[in-house]
Amino acid sequence: MTVQPNSMEARDKAYHMHSYTNARALERDGALVMERGEGIYVYDNNGKKYIEGMSGLWSVAVGFGENRLVEAATRQMSKLPYYHTFTSRANGPSIELAEKLVQMAPVPMSKAFFTNSGSEANDTAIKMIWYRSNAMGKPEKKKIISRIKGYHGVTAVSASLTGLPNNHRSFDLPLPGIFHTSCPHYRAFKLEGESEAAFVERCAKELEDLILREGPETVAAFIGEPVMGAGGVIVPPAGYWPAIQAILKKYDILFIADEVICGFGRTGNMFGTQTFDLQPDFMTLSKQISSSYQPISALLINENVYAPIADESAKIGTFGHGVTAAGHPVAAAVALENIAIIEERDLVGNVRALAPKFQSRLKELEGHPLAIEARGIGLIGALELAPREGFATGQLGPKLFSIMVEKGLISRAIGDSLALCPPLIINESQLDVLFDTFEASLDVLK
Ligand code: PLP
Repeated sequence: MTVQPNSMEARDKAYHMHSYTNARALERDGALVMERGEGIYVYDNNGKKYIEGMSGLWSVAVGFGENRLVEAATRQMSKLPYYHTFTSRANGPSIELAEKLVQMAPVPMSKAFFTNSGSEANDTAIKMIWYRSNAMGKPEKKKIISRIKGYHGVTAVSASLTGLPNNHRSFDLPLPGIFHTSCPHYRAFKLEGESEAAFVERCAKELEDLILREGPETVAAFIGEPVMGAGGVIVPPAGYWPAIQAILKKYDILFIADEVICGFGRTGNMFGTQTFDLQPDFMTLSKQISSSYQPISALLINENVYAPIADESAKIGTFGHGVTAAGHPVAAAVALENIAIIEERDLVGNVRALAPKFQSRLKELEGHPLAIEARGIGLIGALELAPREGFATGQLGPKLFSIMVEKGLISRAIGDSLALCPPLIINESQLDVLFDTFEASLDVLK
Protein backbone atom coordinates (compact mmCIF):
# COMPACT_ATOMS: atom_id res chain seq x y z
CA MET A 1 0.00 0.00 0.00
CA THR A 2 1.42 3.45 -0.93
CA VAL A 3 0.91 5.92 1.88
CA GLN A 4 0.23 9.52 0.79
CA PRO A 5 1.87 12.29 2.84
CA ASN A 6 -0.48 13.80 5.46
CA SER A 7 -3.08 11.09 4.85
CA MET A 8 -4.75 9.37 7.81
CA GLU A 9 -2.43 6.43 7.17
CA ALA A 10 0.65 8.69 7.30
CA ARG A 11 -0.50 10.35 10.54
CA ASP A 12 -1.31 6.95 12.01
CA LYS A 13 2.21 5.76 11.23
CA ALA A 14 3.69 8.91 12.73
CA TYR A 15 1.80 9.02 16.03
CA HIS A 16 0.03 5.77 16.82
CA MET A 17 1.46 2.59 18.30
CA HIS A 18 -1.04 -0.23 17.73
CA SER A 19 -2.15 -3.18 19.81
CA TYR A 20 -1.16 -6.64 18.55
CA THR A 21 0.88 -5.24 15.67
CA ASN A 22 4.40 -5.64 14.37
CA ALA A 23 5.37 -2.00 14.93
CA ARG A 24 8.10 -1.98 12.26
CA ALA A 25 5.77 -3.54 9.68
CA LEU A 26 3.20 -0.86 10.46
CA GLU A 27 5.83 1.88 10.00
CA ARG A 28 6.55 0.38 6.58
CA ASP A 29 3.08 -0.57 5.33
CA GLY A 30 0.59 1.60 7.22
CA ALA A 31 -2.79 0.53 8.62
CA LEU A 32 -6.17 -0.19 7.08
CA VAL A 33 -8.24 2.75 8.31
CA MET A 34 -11.98 2.19 8.67
CA GLU A 35 -14.35 5.08 8.42
CA ARG A 36 -17.91 3.87 8.85
CA GLY A 37 -20.07 0.80 9.21
CA GLU A 38 -23.57 -0.32 8.29
CA GLY A 39 -25.06 -3.71 9.19
CA ILE A 40 -22.47 -6.42 8.52
CA TYR A 41 -20.36 -4.05 6.40
CA VAL A 42 -17.56 -1.60 7.11
CA TYR A 43 -16.09 0.97 4.70
CA ASP A 44 -12.49 2.15 4.70
CA ASN A 45 -11.42 5.76 4.21
CA ASN A 46 -11.15 5.18 0.46
CA GLY A 47 -14.79 4.08 0.36
CA LYS A 48 -14.04 0.38 -0.14
CA LYS A 49 -16.70 -1.93 1.32
CA TYR A 50 -15.94 -5.08 3.34
CA ILE A 51 -18.01 -7.80 4.96
CA GLU A 52 -16.89 -7.67 8.60
CA GLY A 53 -16.66 -11.44 8.93
CA MET A 54 -15.24 -11.14 12.47
CA SER A 55 -17.75 -8.64 13.95
CA GLY A 56 -14.70 -6.45 14.62
CA LEU A 57 -13.08 -8.47 17.40
CA TRP A 58 -15.83 -11.11 17.86
CA SER A 59 -18.08 -8.43 19.24
CA VAL A 60 -20.47 -6.38 17.07
CA ALA A 61 -23.45 -8.71 17.51
CA VAL A 62 -26.13 -6.28 16.32
CA GLY A 63 -24.07 -4.99 13.42
CA PHE A 64 -22.70 -1.54 12.67
CA GLY A 65 -24.75 1.67 12.55
CA GLU A 66 -27.44 0.48 14.97
CA ASN A 67 -29.27 3.69 15.73
CA ARG A 68 -31.00 2.42 18.86
CA LEU A 69 -27.59 2.14 20.53
CA VAL A 70 -26.62 5.62 19.38
CA GLU A 71 -29.86 6.98 20.83
CA ALA A 72 -29.45 5.08 24.12
CA ALA A 73 -25.95 6.56 24.49
CA THR A 74 -27.11 10.07 23.60
CA ARG A 75 -30.06 9.94 26.02
CA GLN A 76 -27.83 8.82 28.89
CA MET A 77 -25.04 11.26 27.97
CA SER A 78 -27.37 14.21 28.33
CA LYS A 79 -28.95 12.91 31.53
CA LEU A 80 -25.91 11.73 33.51
CA PRO A 81 -22.77 11.21 31.39
CA TYR A 82 -20.74 9.69 34.19
CA TYR A 83 -21.04 8.52 37.69
CA HIS A 84 -19.01 5.99 39.55
CA THR A 85 -19.83 3.00 41.71
CA PHE A 86 -17.19 3.39 44.46
CA THR A 87 -18.00 3.91 48.15
CA SER A 88 -21.69 2.97 48.01
CA ARG A 89 -22.54 5.25 45.06
CA ALA A 90 -24.61 4.01 42.11
CA ASN A 91 -26.30 5.06 38.90
CA GLY A 92 -29.53 3.85 37.30
CA PRO A 93 -28.24 2.02 34.20
CA SER A 94 -25.63 0.04 36.15
CA ILE A 95 -28.28 -1.12 38.62
CA GLU A 96 -30.63 -2.12 35.81
CA LEU A 97 -27.86 -3.94 33.96
CA ALA A 98 -26.71 -5.81 37.08
CA GLU A 99 -30.30 -6.95 37.68
CA LYS A 100 -30.75 -7.95 34.04
CA LEU A 101 -27.52 -9.98 33.93
CA VAL A 102 -28.20 -11.82 37.18
CA GLN A 103 -31.71 -12.64 35.93
CA MET A 104 -30.40 -13.80 32.54
CA ALA A 105 -27.72 -16.06 34.00
CA PRO A 106 -28.40 -19.71 33.16
CA VAL A 107 -27.03 -20.86 36.53
CA PRO A 108 -27.78 -19.26 39.92
CA MET A 109 -25.72 -16.09 40.26
CA SER A 110 -25.90 -13.55 43.09
CA LYS A 111 -24.16 -10.40 41.93
CA ALA A 112 -22.72 -8.58 38.93
CA PHE A 113 -19.45 -6.63 39.23
CA PHE A 114 -18.47 -4.24 36.43
CA THR A 115 -15.16 -3.57 34.71
CA ASN A 116 -14.28 -2.22 31.26
CA SER A 117 -12.62 -5.03 29.31
CA GLY A 118 -12.49 -8.79 29.21
CA SER A 119 -8.95 -8.64 30.58
CA GLU A 120 -10.06 -6.66 33.61
CA ALA A 121 -13.00 -8.97 34.23
CA ASN A 122 -10.73 -12.03 34.32
CA ASP A 123 -8.09 -10.17 36.34
CA THR A 124 -10.79 -9.23 38.83
CA ALA A 125 -12.02 -12.83 39.02
CA ILE A 126 -8.54 -13.98 40.06
CA LYS A 127 -8.17 -11.19 42.63
CA MET A 128 -11.59 -12.11 44.03
CA ILE A 129 -10.46 -15.72 44.32
CA TRP A 130 -7.27 -14.79 46.19
CA TYR A 131 -9.26 -12.47 48.51
CA ARG A 132 -11.84 -15.18 49.10
CA SER A 133 -9.24 -17.82 49.95
CA ASN A 134 -7.72 -15.48 52.54
CA ALA A 135 -11.20 -14.71 53.86
CA MET A 136 -11.85 -18.42 54.27
CA GLY A 137 -8.61 -19.00 56.17
CA LYS A 138 -7.09 -20.94 53.26
CA PRO A 139 -4.21 -18.67 52.22
CA GLU A 140 -2.47 -21.58 50.51
CA LYS A 141 -5.39 -22.10 48.07
CA LYS A 142 -4.36 -19.58 45.42
CA LYS A 143 -3.12 -21.42 42.32
CA ILE A 144 -5.01 -21.03 39.09
CA ILE A 145 -5.22 -23.44 36.17
CA SER A 146 -5.85 -22.28 32.65
CA ARG A 147 -5.27 -24.01 29.31
CA ILE A 148 -2.74 -24.00 26.52
CA LYS A 149 -4.23 -21.83 23.72
CA GLY A 150 -6.84 -20.34 26.06
CA TYR A 151 -7.27 -16.57 25.67
CA HIS A 152 -8.21 -14.47 28.66
CA GLY A 153 -6.71 -11.06 27.98
CA VAL A 154 -3.56 -9.04 28.46
CA THR A 155 -3.28 -7.46 31.91
CA ALA A 156 -0.42 -9.05 33.86
CA VAL A 157 -2.72 -11.62 35.48
CA SER A 158 -4.98 -12.19 32.45
CA ALA A 159 -2.01 -12.49 30.08
CA SER A 160 -0.65 -15.11 32.48
CA LEU A 161 -3.94 -16.99 32.17
CA THR A 162 -3.73 -16.76 28.39
CA GLY A 163 -1.95 -19.82 27.06
CA LEU A 164 -0.37 -18.34 23.94
CA PRO A 165 3.38 -17.75 23.55
CA ASN A 166 3.18 -14.16 22.23
CA ASN A 167 1.43 -13.04 25.39
CA HIS A 168 4.28 -14.32 27.55
CA ARG A 169 7.38 -13.93 25.44
CA SER A 170 9.52 -10.90 26.45
CA PHE A 171 6.91 -9.89 29.07
CA ASP A 172 8.37 -12.16 31.79
CA LEU A 173 5.04 -13.97 32.09
CA PRO A 174 3.24 -16.06 33.22
CA LEU A 175 3.24 -14.98 36.84
CA PRO A 176 4.04 -17.67 39.38
CA GLY A 177 1.07 -19.71 40.57
CA ILE A 178 -0.65 -19.82 37.17
CA PHE A 179 -0.48 -23.14 35.29
CA HIS A 180 -1.61 -24.34 31.87
CA THR A 181 -3.16 -27.71 31.20
CA SER A 182 -3.88 -29.39 27.86
CA CYS A 183 -5.81 -27.85 25.01
CA PRO A 184 -8.84 -29.86 23.88
CA HIS A 185 -8.02 -29.66 20.18
CA TYR A 186 -8.46 -33.28 19.16
CA ARG A 187 -7.03 -33.12 15.62
CA ALA A 188 -3.93 -31.22 16.67
CA PHE A 189 -3.08 -32.97 19.92
CA LYS A 190 -4.39 -36.54 19.64
CA LEU A 191 -1.87 -39.32 19.87
CA GLU A 192 -1.56 -41.71 17.00
CA GLY A 193 -4.61 -43.98 16.90
CA GLU A 194 -6.21 -42.24 19.91
CA SER A 195 -10.02 -42.10 19.78
CA GLU A 196 -11.87 -38.91 20.67
CA ALA A 197 -13.13 -40.52 23.88
CA ALA A 198 -9.61 -41.58 24.87
CA PHE A 199 -8.34 -38.08 24.07
CA VAL A 200 -10.99 -36.56 26.37
CA GLU A 201 -10.01 -38.99 29.10
CA ARG A 202 -6.37 -38.01 28.69
CA CYS A 203 -7.18 -34.26 28.87
CA ALA A 204 -9.05 -34.90 32.12
CA LYS A 205 -6.22 -37.04 33.49
CA GLU A 206 -3.64 -34.39 32.63
CA LEU A 207 -5.71 -31.84 34.56
CA GLU A 208 -6.01 -34.20 37.53
CA ASP A 209 -2.29 -35.00 37.43
CA LEU A 210 -1.46 -31.29 37.52
CA ILE A 211 -3.80 -30.74 40.49
CA LEU A 212 -2.28 -33.68 42.36
CA ARG A 213 1.27 -32.57 41.54
CA GLU A 214 0.62 -29.06 42.88
CA GLY A 215 -1.51 -30.28 45.80
CA PRO A 216 -5.32 -29.95 45.59
CA GLU A 217 -5.37 -27.80 48.72
CA THR A 218 -3.31 -25.17 46.83
CA VAL A 219 -5.43 -25.02 43.66
CA ALA A 220 -8.21 -22.42 43.84
CA ALA A 221 -9.70 -22.13 40.37
CA PHE A 222 -9.82 -23.21 36.75
CA ILE A 223 -10.64 -20.83 33.90
CA GLY A 224 -11.82 -21.80 30.43
CA GLU A 225 -13.73 -20.48 27.45
CA PRO A 226 -16.65 -22.76 26.54
CA VAL A 227 -15.25 -22.60 22.98
CA MET A 228 -11.70 -21.29 22.62
CA GLY A 229 -11.73 -18.26 20.34
CA ALA A 230 -8.42 -16.49 19.84
CA GLY A 231 -6.57 -19.79 20.27
CA GLY A 232 -8.04 -20.84 16.90
CA VAL A 233 -11.77 -21.54 17.45
CA ILE A 234 -11.48 -24.84 19.23
CA VAL A 235 -14.74 -26.60 20.02
CA PRO A 236 -14.08 -29.23 22.69
CA PRO A 237 -15.04 -32.82 21.89
CA ALA A 238 -18.18 -34.37 23.38
CA GLY A 239 -17.59 -35.41 26.96
CA TYR A 240 -14.77 -32.92 27.56
CA TRP A 241 -16.64 -30.46 29.78
CA PRO A 242 -18.38 -33.10 31.93
CA ALA A 243 -15.01 -34.78 32.54
CA ILE A 244 -13.29 -31.50 33.44
CA GLN A 245 -16.12 -30.34 35.68
CA ALA A 246 -16.16 -33.64 37.58
CA ILE A 247 -12.49 -33.14 38.48
CA LEU A 248 -13.02 -29.54 39.56
CA LYS A 249 -15.85 -30.67 41.81
CA LYS A 250 -13.79 -33.52 43.24
CA TYR A 251 -11.03 -31.16 44.40
CA ASP A 252 -13.20 -28.18 45.42
CA ILE A 253 -11.88 -25.96 42.62
CA LEU A 254 -13.89 -22.95 41.45
CA PHE A 255 -14.79 -22.70 37.77
CA ILE A 256 -14.62 -19.44 35.82
CA ALA A 257 -16.43 -19.63 32.47
CA ASP A 258 -14.89 -16.98 30.26
CA GLU A 259 -17.95 -16.06 28.18
CA VAL A 260 -16.30 -13.01 26.61
CA ILE A 261 -16.78 -14.44 23.09
CA CYS A 262 -19.49 -17.07 23.62
CA GLY A 263 -21.80 -14.83 25.68
CA PHE A 264 -24.93 -13.28 24.12
CA GLY A 265 -25.76 -15.81 21.47
CA ARG A 266 -22.65 -16.79 19.57
CA THR A 267 -22.94 -20.57 20.03
CA GLY A 268 -26.72 -20.78 19.50
CA ASN A 269 -27.72 -20.24 23.13
CA MET A 270 -27.57 -17.01 25.05
CA PHE A 271 -24.44 -18.34 26.82
CA GLY A 272 -21.84 -21.02 26.07
CA THR A 273 -22.60 -22.24 29.59
CA GLN A 274 -25.96 -23.52 28.25
CA THR A 275 -24.52 -25.00 25.05
CA PHE A 276 -22.07 -27.14 27.07
CA ASP A 277 -24.14 -27.57 30.24
CA LEU A 278 -21.58 -25.87 32.47
CA GLN A 279 -21.92 -25.06 36.18
CA PRO A 280 -19.55 -22.10 36.62
CA ASP A 281 -19.05 -20.10 39.82
CA PHE A 282 -18.02 -17.06 37.77
CA MET A 283 -19.07 -15.93 34.30
CA THR A 284 -17.01 -13.19 32.70
CA LEU A 285 -18.80 -11.17 30.03
CA SER A 286 -17.78 -8.46 27.58
CA LYS A 287 -17.73 -7.81 23.80
CA GLN A 288 -21.29 -8.73 22.67
CA ILE A 289 -22.67 -7.38 25.97
CA SER A 290 -22.69 -3.95 24.29
CA SER A 291 -21.78 -5.07 20.76
CA SER A 292 -18.60 -3.14 21.71
CA TYR A 293 -20.32 0.18 20.99
CA GLN A 294 -19.07 1.06 24.48
CA PRO A 295 -16.30 -0.60 26.50
CA ILE A 296 -17.87 -2.59 29.31
CA SER A 297 -17.42 -5.98 30.95
CA ALA A 298 -19.01 -7.78 33.86
CA LEU A 299 -18.39 -10.69 36.19
CA LEU A 300 -21.29 -12.69 37.50
CA ILE A 301 -20.53 -14.45 40.78
CA ASN A 302 -22.54 -16.96 42.75
CA GLU A 303 -23.32 -16.80 46.45
CA ASN A 304 -20.54 -19.25 47.30
CA VAL A 305 -18.05 -16.74 45.85
CA TYR A 306 -19.78 -13.58 47.01
CA ALA A 307 -20.50 -14.33 50.68
CA PRO A 308 -16.91 -14.79 51.97
CA ILE A 309 -15.75 -11.77 49.93
CA ALA A 310 -18.55 -9.63 51.37
CA ASP A 311 -17.63 -10.76 54.91
CA GLU A 312 -13.95 -9.96 54.34
CA SER A 313 -14.82 -6.50 52.98
CA ALA A 314 -16.77 -5.86 56.18
CA LYS A 315 -13.79 -6.99 58.26
CA ILE A 316 -11.27 -4.85 56.35
CA GLY A 317 -13.69 -1.98 55.85
CA THR A 318 -13.74 -2.12 52.04
CA PHE A 319 -13.32 -4.38 49.02
CA GLY A 320 -10.25 -2.53 47.77
CA HIS A 321 -10.74 -3.07 44.05
CA GLY A 322 -12.54 -1.29 41.22
CA VAL A 323 -11.94 1.01 38.25
CA THR A 324 -13.09 4.59 37.66
CA ALA A 325 -15.41 3.71 34.79
CA ALA A 326 -16.90 0.55 36.39
CA GLY A 327 -20.65 0.51 35.82
CA HIS A 328 -20.30 3.56 33.54
CA PRO A 329 -23.87 4.78 32.99
CA VAL A 330 -23.49 5.36 29.23
CA ALA A 331 -21.85 1.98 28.66
CA ALA A 332 -24.48 0.28 30.85
CA ALA A 333 -27.35 2.04 29.00
CA VAL A 334 -25.90 0.90 25.68
CA ALA A 335 -25.46 -2.66 26.97
CA LEU A 336 -29.09 -2.75 28.17
CA GLU A 337 -30.36 -1.54 24.78
CA ASN A 338 -28.07 -3.99 22.98
CA ILE A 339 -29.39 -6.91 25.05
CA ALA A 340 -32.95 -5.70 24.38
CA ILE A 341 -32.22 -5.82 20.63
CA ILE A 342 -30.72 -9.32 20.88
CA GLU A 343 -33.86 -10.48 22.70
CA GLU A 344 -36.49 -8.60 20.67
CA ARG A 345 -35.04 -9.60 17.31
CA ASP A 346 -34.37 -13.12 18.55
CA LEU A 347 -30.78 -13.04 17.33
CA VAL A 348 -30.11 -16.27 19.19
CA GLY A 349 -32.87 -17.77 17.02
CA ASN A 350 -31.09 -16.34 13.96
CA VAL A 351 -27.86 -18.04 15.04
CA ARG A 352 -29.73 -21.35 15.36
CA ALA A 353 -31.45 -20.89 12.02
CA LEU A 354 -28.25 -20.04 10.14
CA ALA A 355 -25.77 -22.27 11.98
CA PRO A 356 -26.45 -25.38 9.84
CA LYS A 357 -25.72 -23.42 6.66
CA PHE A 358 -22.71 -21.62 8.16
CA GLN A 359 -21.20 -24.85 9.42
CA SER A 360 -21.93 -26.86 6.28
CA ARG A 361 -20.41 -24.22 3.98
CA LEU A 362 -17.37 -24.12 6.25
CA LYS A 363 -17.18 -27.92 6.25
CA GLU A 364 -17.31 -27.94 2.43
CA LEU A 365 -14.14 -25.84 2.44
CA GLU A 366 -12.42 -28.60 4.41
CA GLY A 367 -12.50 -30.50 1.11
CA HIS A 368 -10.42 -27.79 -0.56
CA PRO A 369 -6.92 -29.03 -1.42
CA LEU A 370 -5.36 -26.27 0.73
CA ALA A 371 -7.41 -26.99 3.88
CA ILE A 372 -6.81 -29.45 6.69
CA GLU A 373 -9.69 -28.84 9.10
CA ALA A 374 -12.94 -26.89 9.47
CA ARG A 375 -14.27 -26.43 12.99
CA GLY A 376 -17.01 -24.40 14.58
CA ILE A 377 -20.37 -24.14 16.29
CA GLY A 378 -23.24 -21.66 15.95
CA LEU A 379 -21.95 -18.63 14.06
CA ILE A 380 -18.28 -19.05 14.88
CA GLY A 381 -15.79 -21.13 12.97
CA ALA A 382 -12.34 -21.47 11.49
CA LEU A 383 -10.71 -23.14 8.54
CA GLU A 384 -7.16 -24.36 9.07
CA LEU A 385 -4.83 -24.52 6.09
CA ALA A 386 -2.63 -27.53 5.50
CA PRO A 387 1.14 -27.07 5.81
CA ARG A 388 2.65 -26.33 2.42
CA GLU A 389 6.14 -26.54 1.03
CA GLY A 390 7.87 -23.19 0.80
CA PHE A 391 5.79 -21.64 3.59
CA ALA A 392 6.80 -21.57 7.25
CA THR A 393 4.08 -22.32 9.82
CA GLY A 394 1.97 -19.21 10.29
CA GLN A 395 2.76 -17.67 6.90
CA LEU A 396 -0.13 -19.00 4.83
CA GLY A 397 -2.89 -17.69 7.11
CA PRO A 398 -1.87 -14.01 6.84
CA LYS A 399 -1.38 -14.45 3.08
CA LEU A 400 -4.93 -15.75 2.64
CA PHE A 401 -6.19 -13.02 4.96
CA SER A 402 -4.70 -10.36 2.64
CA ILE A 403 -6.30 -11.95 -0.42
CA MET A 404 -9.67 -11.89 1.36
CA VAL A 405 -9.22 -8.23 2.30
CA GLU A 406 -8.53 -7.46 -1.37
CA LYS A 407 -11.82 -9.19 -2.19
CA GLY A 408 -13.74 -7.31 0.50
CA LEU A 409 -13.93 -9.86 3.33
CA ILE A 410 -12.42 -9.40 6.76
CA SER A 411 -11.61 -12.61 8.60
CA ARG A 412 -8.85 -13.17 11.16
CA ALA A 413 -5.67 -15.12 10.67
CA ILE A 414 -4.75 -17.16 13.75
CA GLY A 415 -1.56 -18.80 12.59
CA ASP A 416 -2.71 -20.77 9.56
CA SER A 417 -6.36 -20.81 10.64
CA LEU A 418 -8.80 -18.25 9.28
CA ALA A 419 -11.54 -17.44 11.75
CA LEU A 420 -15.07 -16.27 11.02
CA CYS A 421 -17.46 -14.76 13.56
CA PRO A 422 -19.94 -12.54 11.67
CA PRO A 423 -22.48 -10.22 13.28
CA LEU A 424 -25.49 -12.16 14.60
CA ILE A 425 -27.79 -10.12 12.31
CA ILE A 426 -26.30 -11.69 9.17
CA ASN A 427 -28.83 -13.24 6.74
CA GLU A 428 -28.64 -16.26 4.48
CA SER A 429 -27.72 -14.49 1.25
CA GLN A 430 -25.01 -12.45 3.01
CA LEU A 431 -23.65 -15.70 4.40
CA ASP A 432 -23.47 -17.09 0.87
CA VAL A 433 -21.51 -14.07 -0.34
CA LEU A 434 -19.17 -14.40 2.62
CA PHE A 435 -18.41 -18.05 1.84
CA ASP A 436 -18.23 -17.46 -1.93
CA THR A 437 -15.58 -14.82 -1.24
CA PHE A 438 -13.74 -17.16 1.12
CA GLU A 439 -13.71 -19.88 -1.52
CA ALA A 440 -12.62 -17.52 -4.30
CA SER A 441 -9.76 -16.31 -2.09
CA LEU A 442 -8.65 -19.89 -1.47
CA ASP A 443 -8.61 -20.42 -5.23
CA VAL A 444 -6.28 -17.42 -5.63
CA LEU A 445 -3.91 -18.89 -3.07
CA LYS A 446 -3.94 -22.25 -4.85
N1 PLP B 1 -11.53 -13.46 27.14
C1 PLP B 1 -11.77 -13.88 25.89
C2 PLP B 1 -12.39 -15.22 25.67
C3 PLP B 1 -11.45 -13.06 24.80
O1 PLP B 1 -11.67 -13.49 23.56
C4 PLP B 1 -10.90 -11.79 25.05
C5 PLP B 1 -10.57 -10.90 23.93
O2 PLP B 1 -10.52 -11.29 22.78
C6 PLP B 1 -10.64 -11.41 26.37
C7 PLP B 1 -10.98 -12.26 27.39
C8 PLP B 1 -10.01 -10.11 26.67
O3 PLP B 1 -10.88 -9.07 26.44
P1 PLP B 1 -10.34 -7.59 26.21
O4 PLP B 1 -9.61 -7.58 24.92
O5 PLP B 1 -11.59 -6.77 26.20
O6 PLP B 1 -9.48 -7.26 27.37
